[in-house]
Amino acid sequence: MLADRDRIFTNLSGEEPWNLPSARKRGAWSNTSSTVAKGRSWIIEEVKNSGLRGRGGAGFSTGMKWSFMPLPSDKPHYLIVNADESEPGTCKDREIVRHDPHLLLEGILYACVAINAHVCYIYIRGEFYREAIILQQAIDEAYASRLLGKSAANTGYSCDVYLHRGAGAYICGEETALMESLEGKKGQPRNKPPFPAIAGLYECPTTVNNVETIAAIPDILRRGAAWFAGIGRPKNTGTKLFCISGHVNKPCVVEDALGTPLRELIDNHAKGVRGGWDNLLAVIPGGSSMPVLPKEICDTLIMDFDALRDVQSGLGTAGIIVMDKSTDLIAAVANLSRFYMHESCGKCTPCREGTGWAWRIMQRLAKGEADAKDIDLLMDIARQLENHTICALGVAAAWPLQSLVRHFKPLLLERIKRVGE
Ligand code: SF4
Repeated sequence: MLADRDRIFTNLSGEEPWNLPSARKRGAWSNTSSTVAKGRSWIIEEVKNSGLRGRGGAGFSTGMKWSFMPLPSDKPHYLIVNADESEPGTCKDREIVRHDPHLLLEGILYACVAINAHVCYIYIRGEFYREAIILQQAIDEAYASRLLGKSAANTGYSCDVYLHRGAGAYICGEETALMESLEGKKGQPRNKPPFPAIAGLYECPTTVNNVETIAAIPDILRRGAAWFAGIGRPKNTGTKLFCISGHVNKPCVVEDALGTPLRELIDNHAKGVRGGWDNLLAVIPGGSSMPVLPKEICDTLIMDFDALRDVQSGLGTAGIIVMDKSTDLIAAVANLSRFYMHESCGKCTPCREGTGWAWRIMQRLAKGEADAKDIDLLMDIARQLENHTICALGVAAAWPLQSLVRHFKPLLLERIKRVGE
């Protein structure tokens, strides 16, 4: 279990005010100018050495991503903070925004220095209405205290931050669709390459980072890369916010070390599975797009990037959705299929057609109106969805289907047989 002294998000549940005086008492905005004075290269190296991997889902090295930004460049550079957080089962960035927004704003300044940007856009999910109000107030506070703007925090470096509210489309959490939306266009993903570091927002070099990733930066730079790298396992370092929802006794968002066993997270923080651990049926470990895992795997599972990859799932956003034995798992996955069909932007054929087709088959399976051949057809559609689309929504739609068949095929066959009798 993570020691209290190692926590980054000490106001996660909002026990103290979010405002600047309280944030300063918790350590935010301290030694900012001397940290910035160490320079771009030092910041990037420190973040690389910490092992920090992006907390938005992909898990790519943050320091490495920053180092891809071209230098020198004749175009302006941009930082975008992705606060769209629309993945079902995920509600961690919201807690940072509403309870500790100054950690995010301070992290933005360091990230801007690292990538040579002077402007940052925060793209926040439209439904986060109250959070947007708090974040704008925090930005205003930071400007009033000269922590943002010209010579931000007395560093000699200018850094402007603009908050932009999205309109509620899931796909705008995808970084290139997000940039299209910011530019005032329809939120649809772009083909890659070119990658955002070369041609992103307004065709200028751009880095897109998740809220939790950026909010962790001030502590990493203050306490040192070795401190962060000493938590968790090699290549899976640091603390992580886990959102635990579903059939647990106390749903929560909690900070713990990467690599903490799943059972420990659920028992220690969420007061256990409803009806006890033996009543567990399955867990989606990383937000709705990650493959579902049966209890046998959950018994010994540890929660980090590599451990989840090894069991053919993923850490994703660390949105842990717990399902006990009362769950109709087929209907639950059908519900996810409907979500991805609804949120497909329609730009590419396998996703536009495949998500709807998969949903219709899943509905039949859930009602027991399918036959065994439909399972093969479903897997065929999932294969077409996986890695044949412009963005990762195709994969997100395919993985729950594939994992359902991989781990729960007898359940599907039983439903078909039972109704057929
Ligand atoms: Fe749009 Fe789906 Fe294609 Fe992504 S995979 S670009 S959401 S149609």
